[in-house]
Amino acid sequence: MRKPFICGNWKMNTDRAGAVALAKATAKVAAEVPAVEVGACPPACYIEAVVAAARGTPLVVGGQNMYFEAKGAFTGEIAGPMLKDLGCRYVILGHSERRHVFGEPDDLISKKVRAAFAFGLTPILCVGELIGERRAGKTNEVVQRHVTSGFAGLAKEQAREVVIAYEPVWAIGTGETATPDQAQDVHAFIRGLLAGLYDAGLAQAVRIQYGGSVKADNAGDLMAQGDIDGALVGGASLTIDSFAGIITEGAKAKGL
Ligand code: PEP
Repeated sequence: MRKPFICGNWKMNTDRAGAVALAKATAKVAAEVPAVEVGACPPACYIEAVVAAARGTPLVVGGQNMYFEAKGAFTGEIAGPMLKDLGCRYVILGHSERRHVFGEPDDLISKKVRAAFAFGLTPILCVGELIGERRAGKTNEVVQRHVTSGFAGLAKEQAREVVIAYEPVWAIGTGETATPDQAQDVHAFIRGLLAGLYDAGLAQAVRIQYGGSVKADNAGDLMAQGDIDGALVGGASLTIDSFAGIITEGAKAKGL
């Protein structure tokens, strides 16, 4: 059985004291709901403080991005070995804000995914369509491109570990959520893609999160879907009441 994974993406929010307080509160909930893996991806400058706050608890920590090179003249970037050194287990790659605000193309994200494994990190690979692409009936085409390029060159044992976050761009930070049926359709499509790229067993093993305006009052309906294994949560991960609600509703929906 796939262990549900609910992860907060704090984006460019919090300050040092706020990050530590949020990490401690999130770690407490993670310990209370051990059937769900709970993660936090703080701003890079607070990772060390958050890792320290999470020490000895089940809360796992991730970076929000990384460059694919191990070191060198790449001003402003953060390397995988640095994230690893700080205590990260995961790294979000291909988030829609990286793709659409910072213009990251598929081949760059693909290099980052392979580099994450080389540096001992597990990627959370974000995929998802823009509203215009959905309206034009291109959702599956876009998701297929993101998944195929994201998994390019991965050995089966690596592919099995990747966490995919299906995040329709029109649902991120907008308050508009994909319906459980819309999300389930894309998650099932992704599992079919993985079966084609690898095999049916691997497709069943990979965890696929949903992301896009997940809140405590919609998390249960979303996670009740068979192919939705958790959530990547932006805004609602910044306050512990809403994030705790998502975790407990998600666990309940999975019968845990
Ligand atoms: C995200 O940034 O990954 C996200 C899903 O944001 P929000 O939950 O705020 O829509």
